[in-house]
Amino acid sequence: MFIIFRLRKAALCLLAVLIVISGAAAKPALKNIQRAPMCLAVVMYHGLCREASGQNRYMISPERFREDLEYLRERGYNTVFISQVIAYYNSGAPLPEKPVILTFDDGYLNNYTYAFPLLEEYGMKAVISPIGISADREEKEKYRSPRWSQCKWEELKKMTDSGRVELQNHSYDLHKGIGAAKRPGEKEEDYYVRLKADLKKADERIIAASGKAPEAFVYPFGSKSSCSDETIRRLGYSCTMDCENKLNYLYSAGDLFSLHRFIRTGDISAEDFFENTVFREEYHE
Ligand SMILES: [Zn+2]
Repeated sequence: MFIIFRLRKAALCLLAVLIVISGAAAKPALKNIQRAPMCLAVVMYHGLCREASGQNRYMISPERFREDLEYLRERGYNTVFISQVIAYYNSGAPLPEKPVILTFDDGYLNNYTYAFPLLEEYGMKAVISPIGISADREEKEKYRSPRWSQCKWEELKKMTDSGRVELQNHSYDLHKGIGAAKRPGEKEEDYYVRLKADLKKADERIIAASGKAPEAFVYPFGSKSSCSDETIRRLGYSCTMDCENKLNYLYSAGDLFSLHRFIRTGDISAEDFFENTVFREEYHE
């Protein structure tokens, strides 16, 4: 009886091992999964400024940003990271209902001072894309203000540590002139090598600060050439973002290049912005 029991136990163990092995072997390599069409809105912010005199197209009041979060919460939208959308298409990871991406470009100190506490308060997420060289320069600054300063890497780290923020690549030192577009007459291979060197430098800083490698490249000023997306894809990124005020209709991972974003200016209410601008042509199945 005891031997039979031992044998049965051994057989069950063997069966369990076989299931695990066959399960592992049978697991398909999930890549570029075809999904039901998704309508994804990406909002582009830059900075928040308390003083009316400092508010402009790129600096809106913290109250406006709160209004946006309030609006999204009330209507059941879920803020997600771009990495979650990439994983949704590349590895089958789940994505919450009604996803929206909030992005902050350039890495201003006011993202940390004003936006971050609001993200914490509302339990929401944002993608911040700092300019590498600006964050490096900020390390030496003694006199700083949320109005004009950049985040230091340790401030960016604090935000990513919270789980409310992820960092993506906005170049190390291409936030000038034609941005990350190809120079006139530049050979595609030279362009590849030039971008690789710059983006790698920004990646290294972001990895050191957040422990996570950027998967997306955010075009400075939205400036790009016809070969930019393909060049950045070759460099190993899964997504690029531009500044076109349009919704994104996504079917597969290939659609994550040149994701459009709505610039959020502070002159209209959250309701006006989301209902009459962002979700105006929302895709309905
Ligand atoms: Zn920028």
